Amino acid sequence: MQIIVQKFGGTSVGSIERIQAVAKLISEEASKGHRLVVVVSAMAGETDRLLGLSKKLSSQPSALHQDVVLAAGEQVAIGLLGIALHELGISSQLFLGHQIRILTDDIHGAARIQRIETDRLIACLDDGKIPIIAGFQGVTEKGDVTTIGRGGGDTTAIAVAAALKADRCDIFTDVPGVSTADPRMVSDARVLRKISSEEMLELADAGAKVLSSRSVEIAARYQVPLCVRSSFEPSAGTMIVREEDSMENVLISGITLSANEAKVAIRRVPDEVGIPARIFQPIAEANINVDMILQNISKDGLTDLTFTVPKGDLKRAMELAEAAARDVKAGKVEAAGDVAKVSVVGIGMRSHAGVAHTMFEALAKEGIGIQMISTSEIKVSLIIDAKYGERAVRALHQAFDLHKPHTDLVGNER
Ligand code: ADP
Ligand code: ASP
Ligand code: MG
Repeated sequence: MQIIVQKFGGTSVGSIERIQAVAKLISEEASKGHRLVVVVSAMAGETDRLLGLSKKLSSQPSALHQDVVLAAGEQVAIGLLGIALHELGISSQLFLGHQIRILTDDIHGAARIQRIETDRLIACLDDGKIPIIAGFQGVTEKGDVTTIGRGGGDTTAIAVAAALKADRCDIFTDVPGVSTADPRMVSDARVLRKISSEEMLELADAGAKVLSSRSVEIAARYQVPLCVRSSFEPSAGTMIVREEDSMENVLISGITLSANEAKVAIRRVPDEVGIPARIFQPIAEANINVDMILQNISKDGLTDLTFTVPKGDLKRAMELAEAAARDVKAGKVEAAGDVAKVSVVGIGMRSHAGVAHTMFEALAKEGIGIQMISTSEIKVSLIIDAKYGERAVRALHQAFDLHKPHTDLVGNER
């Protein structure tokens, strides 16, 4: 019998009516004879609400304490879904992270899943019951509750699927699949039938929150077939697959916007060997993820060094940059939180030139200035003024003709 893991995100279980609809979906799938394992997120808005409560008490709550608060959202959701399933005559067993033992490290708020014990899940399936698992949470070896980062329900689902060697993992959400852009931003964005893991990973990393990037990584590493589909309407969804030869024929698969960016510029940095290392060392030690770095051409032995960090880390990054600037005798440090990153992703870039040029032209036509550029093998990202973010995404979607269906050499639509 096939094991299928189904994950339902916050909007899918966002109300009592939605929980009833999801229970019905589960009962239909169960009646097909599969062994089902269900992973659930907190009801839409609940994690933010809980976060708000602890922020009312402290501007910097202890991450250990906050994890206990945040994990409560998923506990409520699995309980309610269990009750709804019972009403349909379906028996389930409810599992919090520590009850299964979803073991994580102790980086509270951003813990990494290290191992999942499967004994209780398998016993539950053998009993003919459906395990309903709280996503987003785990437990340390010591027994403390952890959460694994925003959007982590996807990661829990894939990790559970990998541990159980499941035949498939379906991520049910509020859109019909992965689209060429966020359908809330671009009305003619197209749902992709399939996308390679490499592209999906870049899209997720660059801000497409439809899947967590860690979930894509785990699915690729453990070869779990992964599908994103809607819980609101029947949809074939998007399969995340291994790269196929024909995929290079499609230049761009998707465009994303990340508003979670901030820029730090250090002026008049002495242009000497070893100085950048001295500036970035304390930032790395503080676990701050530096994304893009730009160093201007040196004039009179001095240069400007600009870099981007996640918005939430801006304050700390500024403090560290100011200390480093004093240390290396650089000039003043400036910060900007009003920037956004727009990225285009596609495997076809490997074999086709001109992507950056098309982007520059499209943004120039809209009068949108570019502040920083970075490229990788299958992605080009630009930092722009935050207020132009959505306009840039729409302009690029149009410029790359993403509203038109693309077909590969043998006529399969992507
Ligand atoms: P869930 O609560 O199910 O985890 P999320 O809100 O985390 O759902 O993710 C789904 C959302 O991702 C969609 O509502 C959509 O606005 C957004 N999204 C961003 N980029 C894309 C994309 N390329 N394709 C589809 N959805 C996207
Ligand atoms: N409830 C968590 C969040 O809002 C996890 C998730 O939804 O995947 O981030
Ligand atoms: Mg999500």
